[in-house]
Amino acid sequence: MDFDLDARRVRLSVGELADFTLGPREPAGGPSGAWRAQLGIHWHRELRAQATAADPAAAFEVAIEGEVIHRGWILSLSGRIDQLVRSDGAVTLREIKTVTRALPASVADLRAQYPSYFAQAAAYVDLLGRPSASDPAARPAAEVVFVEADTGLAQAVPLIAADEAVYRGQIARVAEFLDLRLRARDRLRKLRFRPPFAELRPGQESARADLETALRHPPGKVLLEAPTGFGKTGVLLELALGELRSGRFERVLYLTGKSTGQIQVNRTLAEMTRPDDSSGRGPDGGETGVAVWVVRPKSEHCVNSVFHCLRESCRYLDGMEERWPQSGLARFYLTENHPRDLATIRAAGLEACICPYEITRAALPCNDVWIGDYNYVFAPANNGLFYDQPGFSPAQTLLLIDEAHNLPTRVADAHSHSLTSEQAQAVLTALCHTHAPASLVTAWDEWTQLLAHLEPTGALEGTDRADIQNLLSDLAERIGTLPVDHAALGPRVSGLLWQMPFIAAQWEDSVLPRLEWSPRRGTLALTCLDAAAAIGGRLREFGGVVLATATPGPLDAFAAALGLDGSELEDPGDTPPAIAASRLGDLTKSETRRLSVQVTRGVDLLRQQEARGAPLSPVVAFTPWRDGAYDMAFDLRVDTTFQQRTRHYGTTAATLVSLAAGTGERRFRGPVAVFFSSYAYAEAIIGALEASGAGLRPALQPRLSDLGAQAAWLEESLETADALFLVLGSSFAESIDVLGGRVERAMVVGPALPEVNAVQQARLTALSGLGRAAAFRRIYQIPGMQKVNQALGRLVRAPGHKARVLLHCRRFAEADYMRLLAADYQSGPVLRTDEEFEAWVRAPLG
Ligand code: SF4
Repeated sequence: MDFDLDARRVRLSVGELADFTLGPREPAGGPSGAWRAQLGIHWHRELRAQATAADPAAAFEVAIEGEVIHRGWILSLSGRIDQLVRSDGAVTLREIKTVTRALPASVADLRAQYPSYFAQAAAYVDLLGRPSASDPAARPAAEVVFVEADTGLAQAVPLIAADEAVYRGQIARVAEFLDLRLRARDRLRKLRFRPPFAELRPGQESARADLETALRHPPGKVLLEAPTGFGKTGVLLELALGELRSGRFERVLYLTGKSTGQIQVNRTLAEMTRPDDSSGRGPDGGETGVAVWVVRPKSEHCVNSVFHCLRESCRYLDGMEERWPQSGLARFYLTENHPRDLATIRAAGLEACICPYEITRAALPCNDVWIGDYNYVFAPANNGLFYDQPGFSPAQTLLLIDEAHNLPTRVADAHSHSLTSEQAQAVLTALCHTHAPASLVTAWDEWTQLLAHLEPTGALEGTDRADIQNLLSDLAERIGTLPVDHAALGPRVSGLLWQMPFIAAQWEDSVLPRLEWSPRRGTLALTCLDAAAAIGGRLREFGGVVLATATPGPLDAFAAALGLDGSELEDPGDTPPAIAASRLGDLTKSETRRLSVQVTRGVDLLRQQEARGAPLSPVVAFTPWRDGAYDMAFDLRVDTTFQQRTRHYGTTAATLVSLAAGTGERRFRGPVAVFFSSYAYAEAIIGALEASGAGLRPALQPRLSDLGAQAAWLEESLETADALFLVLGSSFAESIDVLGGRVERAMVVGPALPEVNAVQQARLTALSGLGRAAAFRRIYQIPGMQKVNQALGRLVRAPGHKARVLLHCRRFAEADYMRLLAADYQSGPVLRTDEEFEAWVRAPLG
């Protein structure tokens, strides 16, 4: 659907018109979609041959188009009728539909179950049968021909006047939707909103203007590099609301990787658009309304006793289409400012006996800002919720992506699968218990045996690979065609079964590089090595994109990981701020900072990129309050590589004791934050500390997934411990913001290079064309140093925060690694001896 609100014109296919609804609808495609499509083609061919035999002049796939006017809207419709046949001079249109239900069926049942098929046929009659001057009465007859998928049995149902009414009803629905969009647009034109900050911090005043400038220049893909604490959520939302008000975009998608980020975005947005008083008017007396929907996962919407989305298992799903019109749930999109928190949505769904997720699905098209997870755009299994929405046009949408450095990994994960023999055995047992068809049980038994005997390997060999592929595609076909009692199988087994057709399709069709391997006996892993092509394809669809992160790393690698060719760009991380190890200490921190700002201020850099036709325009946040906030030192006394680290455990422990003791001249706030590459490393140093008898009280981060529990541990440890032992890359190092201003000393015990395993080696091989050093940088050094930058960024989050940081490994001073540090961390003395270290520790913090 493609509409122009000013011209009051919409272009859509006849199929889209017939299926149009803002209420619940059957998901398209699905695991059996491909199989049904194949069968559909087969039966279409059969019926075509029959029609040709009866009428040699019969025409097929006849293009039909025309316009319909309704309440001032012009609907431009187009489509293809399956058959146009003549008999005794009369024309009959036939729309052919393959169905999985048994035929023949009562005509009333067919009309009730498939109203859109009749609406489609009625639309063709209307478009083709307009009275002409020569034959004002000419109007073709039409019929819907149902074909039973399994047998090919056909049942023709002639069109009646009631079908015309269904078609007219669909036109009215589309017009009503367009009225809603027009109302939303008029509301947005008058939108008034507050600035996100009561007081601007230095640097914030220019950020929005820089972003706007960058967004207006082709290709409209912007990287916003802003440190933690800059207030990028507020800046992005100010940009987004301004763009909506100006009409440059009709919708904004704000994607995050974590639910905490979504809550923060929603809260900031609510504050920026909160009415001033009881009049309900916004700041300056303007309209407040921007319609925002936070999309939570389907499982969180669920009100059924078990999360199993089958009509047979869930009364909230079964028959919901019939209950929807009388449910009153349309209030969620018809009434502006209707509460839309998850508790309200769930309660409303419960009361109306309709799955609450359908409320979200129905309401989305009428909302201006959609807040949700990356998956709703980038994961094949989830993106239907957004992409199947009527009127959703990526070209008219501004896409904001928070913490964008996480996107490549998340999308690769969405294209990866792990299958175990234990899971397969559970499915086999359930198939037997539920008396599934024998041929499926036999095929699944073979699959289970294959997995059980799969030995660990870094890459599947030819025969194993071929066997797996054959079995996968055989299973996929059987699962799509054979009757299986999914309700009896239960949600877990049913889910394991249904994933097979998707995996088989990805195995055969995916253009993404993939490793097929076995990390342990009985496990098959299909790991996506690089999702850049999938990400880039999606990003290019959008009219505007802002990718926000504190730690993009080198621009060329960042753009490449996102599928945006940035190889020709000058890399601000690789040029002036990069100082050879021999020059460490020669440049002052402010000189380093100035050098960086000089090159990376948004507008200047934008001009450079524009001149080169670059695919990504960087805007770097200006944060003068961070100048001099970090007191860095490079500790060359130790080597933390896996092979050498044990030799230095004693030095690392002693260093920590000295750092924790501090200068005596100034009381540092909080314990020392110590960042390790792994739990094992942290535990080894705890052992060395205990052996030293120094009496230091370390607190090692627990393996907790609950955010509340993590925060509670941190609060307690900040009060009671001398050193917080944190693992780089974990949520303690990357997501928890309370360290800023409460911890003033930190030590990073080596870069956190990814573990060497079959996947990383395969990625390295895939990039071998770049040369070994460049490939190693991309696969190991950049991710490893990104975790260091991420952790250090959280220590200074506001003006006045300071941090003394020891980079404890000789590698940090090597040019390859140091260049990958953020500019704020690149300057500091090199410590080669214990004396130099002690002198640095005792120096007052500026
Ligand atoms: S359809 Fe909705 S209510 Fe039913 S199981 Fe699925 S999520 Fe739960």
